[in-house]
Amino acid sequence: MASVFRSTRVLTPAGLRAATLVVEGERIARVVNWGDVPAGSELRDFRDLVLLPGLVDTHVHINEPGRTEWEGFETATQAAAAGGVTTLVDMPLNCVPETINAEALEGKRRAAAGKAWVDWAAWGGVVRGNADALSGLIQAGVPGFKCFLIHSGIDGFAWVDEADLRLALEKLRGTGLPLLAHAEVEGPVTIATDSLHAKGADWRKYRTYLASRPDAAEVEAIALLIRLAEEYATPIHIVHLASASALPLLELARSGGTPVTVETCAHYLWFASEEIPDRATEYKCAPPIRSAENREKLWQALESGLIDMITTDHSPCPRAMKHKEDGRFDQAWGGIASLGLALPVVWTAMRQRGLGIERIGDWMAGAPARLAGLTGRKGALVPGTDADFAVFDPDAEWTVKPEDLRFRHKLSPYLGARLRGRVHETWLRGERIFANGQIAGPARGREQVRP
Ligand SMILES: [Zn+2]
Repeated sequence: MASVFRSTRVLTPAGLRAATLVVEGERIARVVNWGDVPAGSELRDFRDLVLLPGLVDTHVHINEPGRTEWEGFETATQAAAAGGVTTLVDMPLNCVPETINAEALEGKRRAAAGKAWVDWAAWGGVVRGNADALSGLIQAGVPGFKCFLIHSGIDGFAWVDEADLRLALEKLRGTGLPLLAHAEVEGPVTIATDSLHAKGADWRKYRTYLASRPDAAEVEAIALLIRLAEEYATPIHIVHLASASALPLLELARSGGTPVTVETCAHYLWFASEEIPDRATEYKCAPPIRSAENREKLWQALESGLIDMITTDHSPCPRAMKHKEDGRFDQAWGGIASLGLALPVVWTAMRQRGLGIERIGDWMAGAPARLAGLTGRKGALVPGTDADFAVFDPDAEWTVKPEDLRFRHKLSPYLGARLRGRVHETWLRGERIFANGQIAGPARGREQVRP
């Protein structure tokens, strides 16, 4: 028997419409008119609540195995489920071992067994010296690879220079798999940081940290990555773009057909450096949150389609590592914890800008699904895809409190934020995984291995 879900506002690729989803097994069999409920089917009527495609977050640090005290599959995937996210793609670092060869990927698969409430996949890592391990990871089904052009914060995940990038791109060429890159280079950061230390700058001030990671580090890295994407005709994806100074370069590259895609994160679209209190190390991430003027340009690039997608870069750590006691930005771990909040955060900002909810569909589901090779399975409410969706009340108003956070450490710059929009229910492959503030059912999350 089919299960049938309907609402007056279902977000389809053609826009919001009154529609009925007919689900057979784990997949959407048909999307039909609102009134066309098949006889004898079990109907759930969500009335005027919005049915969004299950969100896909391609930038999450789950940290398991090896650093489960930072985060883990159970807490991360429950936080995702509560935020309407039905697919996570895990970054290859902060876990131990780092996902830089097929054996490490096997270890991650064992670690995830029985602990994932949403579907997931794992990016492989490109680090100095692992070019020969890449084909093993490709055969094991990773959707693509991630690398750093600057120290990653994790010694086991060595950053790469142009020569290393060339070795990796040689292996990726022709596979269609993207190389994701943390786009900051070392040079400008080292120069700025050394000069701040020499001047005795106060590292409890956010503006000191901001000055230590200048726009130039992003711009130089992105210029190099664009050049390589063009030369190797291999897709390169810029993760967490923070600097609007790189937008003209990206615009030129895209208009010339270079295979480069771009994400930014919810925190770059929500916070601005002018508003970050001193000692507030929960805001520390790299690249840093920049000015309000910069934020406005990121929004414009998103609206124009130059920035393709929004992710969280959820990258938590134990509280002590955030150095809240001394408030030193140079000592604190860099990474913002936010999994489960991106939808209401982005939607609240969109309302302020007068944007319609339709654009959430591609920014937070369709485009990330494409990046991870999941189109046809995830990211859109169309026949044939998994029946993954979020039931969203776009008008609810609420304030973020620690008990709303489901990830392991309840330290986030979003605490206290007044948001619009709340997830009522989340469904994964035809079964409810979250409803009325509670996680529902067993851990049914499944790895999405590239076919
Ligand atoms: Zn990250």
